[in-house]
Amino acid sequence: MTIVYEVGKGIYVNLTNRCPCACTFCLRANAPGVYGSPALWLEREPTLEETLAALDGCDWTRFGECVFCGYGEPTERLDVLLAAAAHMKARHPGVRIRVNTNGLSDLINSRATAAEFAGKVDCLSISLNTDDPAEYLAVCRPKFGEAAYPAMKEFAREAAAAGIETVMTVVGEPVTSQEKQARCRAIAESLGARLRVRKFESA
Ligand code: SF4
Repeated sequence: MTIVYEVGKGIYVNLTNRCPCACTFCLRANAPGVYGSPALWLEREPTLEETLAALDGCDWTRFGECVFCGYGEPTERLDVLLAAAAHMKARHPGVRIRVNTNGLSDLINSRATAAEFAGKVDCLSISLNTDDPAEYLAVCRPKFGEAAYPAMKEFAREAAAAGIETVMTVVGEPVTSQEKQARCRAIAESLGARLRVRKFESA
């Protein structure tokens, strides 16, 4: 069972395979892992104790970042994520903590959650994907339907307001045109976040 795996200078944490979306571009549909990782399908979700043991087993002198990402939406396991992030802050305060998320934590956990990341997580990287709510619905296919896009933006706004570095991401050309990127940047900045344009990687 792969709980942690290396990508570049980071250790990535794989807490769950659950996700409320079914994105048309999801890597999970095409391969068992990412960037040369071992298979990331979990036969069961790791406990907090197993997650902490896996984190403590890493050589943190070699890695500057701990990223909750994996093969699923990490906020599906919010309690474990926050406890593990707090553990990292206490044990390894020099390591930057990032969460890569679809931003739907509030809908997943049925409460406003962004402020809970403050002090435990340095950066929230939220998939904005598009400036168009209808396109978001068609491409990300969230089980929450039309509620998802505004909830994702509100999560970003509250994260930024809580003082967390908040980054919203889109994939660059040819998926997202320059004009669309500009509209996405305006949305991100209106929420107190910044836009990051990710490199398009063809299959
Ligand atoms: S939000 Fe991420 S994990 Fe979930 S379906 Fe979309 S790409 Fe896959």
